[in-house]
Amino acid sequence: MSAEYRVDLGAFRQNLRRVREAVAPAAHMLVVKDDAYAHGLETLVREARDEGVRWFGAFDVATGAAVRAITGPDARIFVWLIGGADDLRAGVAADLDLGIGDEALLDDLAALSAAPARLHLKIDTGLHRNGIRPERWDAALTRTAELVGQGRAVLEGIWSHISEASDADDDDARALFLAARDAARAAGLVPRYSHLAASAAGFARGEFREDLVRVGAFSYGIRPAGGPGEAELGIEPIAALVATVTAVGPAGVHLDIGSLHGLPSALSGRFDVATPAGPRRVEAIGATSTAVAVWDDARVGDEIAVFGRGALRSATDLAELIDTIGEEIALRVSPSIPRVYRG
Ligand SMILES: *Cc1c(COP(=O)(O)O)cnc(C)c1O
Repeated sequence: MSAEYRVDLGAFRQNLRRVREAVAPAAHMLVVKDDAYAHGLETLVREARDEGVRWFGAFDVATGAAVRAITGPDARIFVWLIGGADDLRAGVAADLDLGIGDEALLDDLAALSAAPARLHLKIDTGLHRNGIRPERWDAALTRTAELVGQGRAVLEGIWSHISEASDADDDDARALFLAARDAARAAGLVPRYSHLAASAAGFARGEFREDLVRVGAFSYGIRPAGGPGEAELGIEPIAALVATVTAVGPAGVHLDIGSLHGLPSALSGRFDVATPAGPRRVEAIGATSTAVAVWDDARVGDEIAVFGRGALRSATDLAELIDTIGEEIALRVSPSIPRVYRG
């Protein structure tokens, strides 16, 4: 296939510095789920570690263990998809920080003979994805206090996830969060870390930063759909989908990537790509090929920047054309397209 997903590591480091500055004095937890938003886990984690990132948000235990293998012992690695006792055991073995959003895991932990687990209890503040419901919170605190008393667990954190869709909803969520933390303290538990914000609230709303801000999208230069631009946020896209022309005909120039490689066919006719002759319209996106409006001396091998860094449109620009979010466009870039790193 004649395409690559080109990731600029210098731009990534620049975004990491920007995020660090924007969320300070809270620490940046770099969220690396979905293969670091499809940029490639291993290279990006290594780069971030060298740039001074000390917290990683890995989603599931297998990814957390993979991040641990890359970072070595110094990093803190937070995971929040934990399936049961086996996952707990594996998480403790890999020295992970465990996000607990389900009371049943506390029972699993009680039955486990392992080193003390580092827990971050999750209060459901309205998203209902996972998280302990407010009416069950006191029971979960009692259970946690028992585990702590038995030396099986340390309560490292209290956390939640918020919608970042409206300030009013987020304010309500935060009120629930603060009440949950007060209850933990009243139960004699002293969580060291509070965290509830991701990219958007972490940048825009100081009172949501607490100790850690879990930032994925902005670290990779993906701005929010319908929200502030990259320049305003001080971030830049780090990756570009670049394809080379595989055939030239009177009707158009062909690329051998299509919807199966991640370009939504709904974008047919709706955006321009950067060609050696300037902007040209993408006329049709098929399953495995794309047609672009022809130019005079077009040749096989000419490079086209389809979207992202150095192209005419960012992932979020394309997303907005079809009412989705930039992450969706970025995550679709097929693993069969090689990731190539520069800088
Ligand atoms: C994905 C995710 C994040 C990061 O969100 P961004 O908007 O990409 O910064 C933070 N926290 C949790 C729990 C997530 O699932």
